[in-house]
Amino acid sequence: MHTLIVGASLGGLRTAQALRGRGWTDKITLLGAEPRPPYDRTPLSKEVLLGKRSPEQLGLVPARVLQELDLELHLGTSAAGLDPASGTVVLQDGRRVGYDTLVIATGSVPRSLPGTENLTGLRVLRTVEDALAIKARLVAGTSVVVIGGGFVGAEVASAARETGAAVTVVAPGPAMMLRVLGPVLGSHMTAVHRKHGVRVRSSVFVAGVSGQDRVEALTLSDGSCIPADSAVIGIGAVPCTDWLEDSGLRLRDGVVCDERLRAVGAENIYAVGDVARWRNPRYGELVRVEHWTNAGEQARVVAANIAGESAVHDAVPYVWSDQFGVRLQIAGRIGADDAVHYVLGGPETERFVALAGHGDRLNAVVARGEVREFLRYRGLLVGNGTWPDDTVER
Ligand SMILES: Cc1cc2nc3c(=O)[nH]c(=O)nc-3n(C[C@H](O)[C@H](O)[C@H](O)COP(=O)(O)OP(=O)(O)OC[C@H]3O[C@@H](n4cnc5c(N)ncnc54)[C@H](O)[C@@H]3O)c2cc1C
Repeated sequence: MHTLIVGASLGGLRTAQALRGRGWTDKITLLGAEPRPPYDRTPLSKEVLLGKRSPEQLGLVPARVLQELDLELHLGTSAAGLDPASGTVVLQDGRRVGYDTLVIATGSVPRSLPGTENLTGLRVLRTVEDALAIKARLVAGTSVVVIGGGFVGAEVASAARETGAAVTVVAPGPAMMLRVLGPVLGSHMTAVHRKHGVRVRSSVFVAGVSGQDRVEALTLSDGSCIPADSAVIGIGAVPCTDWLEDSGLRLRDGVVCDERLRAVGAENIYAVGDVARWRNPRYGELVRVEHWTNAGEQARVVAANIAGESAVHDAVPYVWSDQFGVRLQIAGRIGADDAVHYVLGGPETERFVALAGHGDRLNAVVARGEVREFLRYRGLLVGNGTWPDDTVER
């Protein structure tokens, strides 16, 4: 039985590790577009930008462990097409690779700003190369514009401030990190950024970028103009499914999968990580999650299913983000009209624990710092999911 894993990053590697961890001795091929051995992206917007970690320190496993996994490893190799009927993946160079079981782990790629491809000093952040190019321009006294107020943008803003640059965040909504944090906690974190000297321009978007060869200024939708020595684009990511367009697999903002992470209508094809949109039984709907922990959890579920068990993935989403030296942690999903109740700290404090929910239902726990309390409430969320008795009006 040959298992072919396409995408040699977190989800792909963890699937191979989980299979070997179960004593799976059959052939596993791990194939990925990037030339580097599987590495961790999470420090790219944190320690790498601050010069606290080098690219050599990002490996997801030591070289020796990778060797011991006994994989057919093909780096710098892209899949260009899939024919499920014959069980074949077509590579960019025209070669074909057969499989008995296929795991799609091709992740996501950042959205870009069309028409800006030839400008230097303007970059998305996904790879080691992106991080090094951005880092090279984070210089004290320069002006950095972060386009987008999501997690990656917020972390870049934090790192850029730490290096002494003047930072402006352009956020399309009324607050930063709005999609994941909702309006109350998004506004709270926006205030934290402002306190640390970040200029946050909310409810505007970038209408134009000017510069000869390199970015020089950005024009916003309200007509204002911000001079910039460099800019980072953090306007979200899209799942890497272009190579699957003609495969017949159901694609809808990701590879659509059942509760077991099996691609709908395909017995022997699974998806893991950022690329998977699966039916999470906990929420009773299709969900796609772009978080580190999710990729590892899904890898274990997929490995169990490949090994003949019947495992479902019903985890509560979890993400962390380090900004201004303090860890923000979020478990669950905050609904648009959820009430927010602080159980530690409050809207004015840098450190806090807050619960979000609707009626009796606890939907999410959010903490900045305060790890012990976060874990306590996270336990409740994962357990019965009802609002704890010791919290009052909400
Ligand atoms: C800068 C940054 C910071 C982050 N920080 C955090 C954090 O603090 N906390 C958190 O929870 N999450 C964080 N994340 C998210 C987390 O890193 C991702 O959820 C995780 O990397 C997903 O793993 P993956 O294997 O699904 O996809 P990816 O890591 O995107 O890997 C997919 C791999 O597939 C390859 N590939 C794509 N198409 C093809 C193809 N056709 N053929 C072959 N190979 C292909 C890609 O080159 C890539 O190597 C961060 C992400 C970024 C970019």
